Amino acid sequence: MSQTAEGQKVRWIALLGSTGSIGRNTLEVIAASEGRLKVLALTAHRNTRLLKAQIQQFRPHYVVVTDPEAAARQDWSDLPPQTQLKVGHDYLAEVASLPEVDIVVAAIVGRAGLEGTWAALEAGKTVALANKESLVVAGPLVTRLAAQRGGRLLPVDSEHSAVFQALQAGRRDEVRRVVLTASGGPFRTYPLDRLHQVTVQEALAHPTWNMGPKITIDSATLMNKALEIIEARWLFDLAAHQIGVVIHPQSVVHSMVEYIDGSVIAQMSPPDMRLPIQYALFWPDRQPSVARQFDWSEAYCLEFYPPDPERHEALELGLEVARQGGTAGAVLNGANEAAVAAFLAGKIPFTQIVPACRAVLEHHPFDPNPSLETLVRLDRWAREEVTRWACSKTA
Ligand code: NAD
Ligand code: MG
Repeated sequence: MSQTAEGQKVRWIALLGSTGSIGRNTLEVIAASEGRLKVLALTAHRNTRLLKAQIQQFRPHYVVVTDPEAAARQDWSDLPPQTQLKVGHDYLAEVASLPEVDIVVAAIVGRAGLEGTWAALEAGKTVALANKESLVVAGPLVTRLAAQRGGRLLPVDSEHSAVFQALQAGRRDEVRRVVLTASGGPFRTYPLDRLHQVTVQEALAHPTWNMGPKITIDSATLMNKALEIIEARWLFDLAAHQIGVVIHPQSVVHSMVEYIDGSVIAQMSPPDMRLPIQYALFWPDRQPSVARQFDWSEAYCLEFYPPDPERHEALELGLEVARQGGTAGAVLNGANEAAVAAFLAGKIPFTQIVPACRAVLEHHPFDPNPSLETLVRLDRWAREEVTRWACSKTA
């Protein structure tokens, strides 16, 4: 591990998914770190133009482009001399486990992020985890691997970062439950009987967060919160009945821990992902941050509403999958990724995303104790089932 000119430890980062929303926010945190965080490796799927700009600014030693066709379309003749380019998904595991890496930021979207998270934990790395799908698909296997190899999972998801911070206020046997906050998304007050006609553009307009398209649609269906229930179940080793959800439109309280005496410890800050990213990268220390801060000369108003079972039907699926474990998470996640892609492609209406997931989940061959191979196979199966389901609805 190297040191800055001031004698402070440098942390070398492998950033998987550097061109995405979390990736770009992570690079802003790194740029503001005064040399304490340095980029060893960057990976991107298709946006090679932005990747090239990031390479010029951060001068990584390794770069991975996971989509070979996108890599082939780009001119790489002007790479800095110290930068090695690798092409293909298999290199994610290689850069995530490099001996020089201190922290792997898992910021790839969807099930495609699992291999990078897995390889990093297998190599005993600290993983700053944005890719919640790794835990949704393979929670028990991923957490067991981390424990066996001495790897560590630090949450980047704002709710889980909040819970992680609030858990420090008491002992584990004093925790009654965690309460995840949800903004409610763009359709919080939209008439239920008109939801079937919402457009992709309307669903992509999140009121409080600026994120990648998949998680933005997940936030509109509340499936994002369902995935976060499952993420919390594995990350904090909670039972499903210890996880609640409350609708909080301002996205200022990022989540809460309720203790047995009734005290509720919340973490709050203006909605800005650079804060939870920075908290994970410098943990256990806190640092001055580039993230937005409160201005207490302004008035703030915070609201909390119980979820509505009819409008927020995805939550029940999340709780059910958190209760079941086994193969249920991989199936829910695969089905959801396929259903979101179908909605974005104009093939199914918004209101069919959650029913498609439920239908596939209900008739999947449940296995309480699956291998990683089984999970990967069922992920593919769930996607195919959604395609079949969508065809049967439009036939
Ligand atoms: P995004 O779509 O903006 O970026 C995704 C990144 O993954 C890009 O760098 C892309 O190149 C890469 N990628 C996409 N498909 C890939 C594939 N098949 N193989 C390899 N790389 C691939 O997504 P995002 O909003 O930054 O979200 C990333 C992850 O972080 C998701 O799991 C999301 O749920 C989670 N997360 C995001 C936010 C947020 O504010 N954006 C907040 C909390 C959690
Ligand atoms: Mg979140």
